[in-house]
Amino acid sequence: MLFKKKKFERKVMLKKKVLDSILSFCQMKHPNEGVLILKGKSKNGEIKIDGLVIPPFSETGPTFAGFPHSFLPFDMSYVGIIHSHPSGSAEPSVIDLHNFFGLVSMIVKFPYDDDSVFAWDSNGTAIPLFIE
Ligand SMILES: [Zn+2]
Repeated sequence: MLFKKKKFERKVMLKKKVLDSILSFCQMKHPNEGVLILKGKSKNGEIKIDGLVIPPFSETGPTFAGFPHSFLPFDMSYVGIIHSHPSGSAEPSVIDLHNFFGLVSMIVKFPYDDDSVFAWDSNGTAIPLFIE
């Protein structure tokens, strides 16, 4: 049996200015999906997001946004990715969960306003999100 680590209360803290950049990026990409790398720190289950990186060689279309993970430099400040769902669905697809990267997968659904952002873990379970 695997040793079970103490369970921390998980949450995602997102800076308001980062959220604004995400929303305008997704609006610009619409009706295609947009994808960005989330930069930040993770401590005791709390993920703080304070920056964004445009992934190299990203390919996007109306239903899929992805990039080859092998092109990413190893960087501990990359805590996850965020991508948009022009269809308006907030839930991660099976493909999204297969392409999970880092600690958190965030989804912005159409129409990309402040209430359109959601955070998920690799099991597809919602993580509480706070804008600061
Ligand atoms: Zn998706």
